[in-house]
Amino acid sequence: MHDSPLLFVDIDGVISLFGESHTRPAGRWVNVDGMLHFLSATAGGHLLRLAEGFELVWCSGWEDRANDHLPHELALPGPLPFLTFERSRRRRRAHWKLDAVDAYARERPLAWIDDAFDEECHWWAGERPAPTLLVATEPAVGLTEKHVAQLEGWATRLGH
Ligand SMILES: [Mg+2]
Repeated sequence: MHDSPLLFVDIDGVISLFGESHTRPAGRWVNVDGMLHFLSATAGGHLLRLAEGFELVWCSGWEDRANDHLPHELALPGPLPFLTFERSRRRRRAHWKLDAVDAYARERPLAWIDDAFDEECHWWAGERPAPTLLVATEPAVGLTEKHVAQLEGWATRLGH
């Protein structure tokens, strides 16, 4: 029933970029609930391509609000499934997402794109019985062609 591996997609630092970089991709400023976000123009195309081999899930503090804006802004098919998080958890690092990722993925293979992995995430990935790939982005650059190639290569080796 679930043929494709899951792909958890963070937004800030992956699609919505921040910080200085000489290699910042093209994009545009979008008003999201009164806050300006710089959305990478290339991220949408990359995600569209990844959606062919993965089952995409929003994995971001944006939670359900991701579907209010991103499928439209990035020309993605939507809405996508999304994770929700316990509000009491510390939110500055990726590990506040682990419980929700675990609960959603159960025993399925998963890849996860995020700009804020910490040691706990890498330990967790290494201990997971199912194939698990963490793809770290630079917050000023976001999702790149190289990440897409890495993800596609990983999925191919899984037999997808
Ligand atoms: Mg982030």
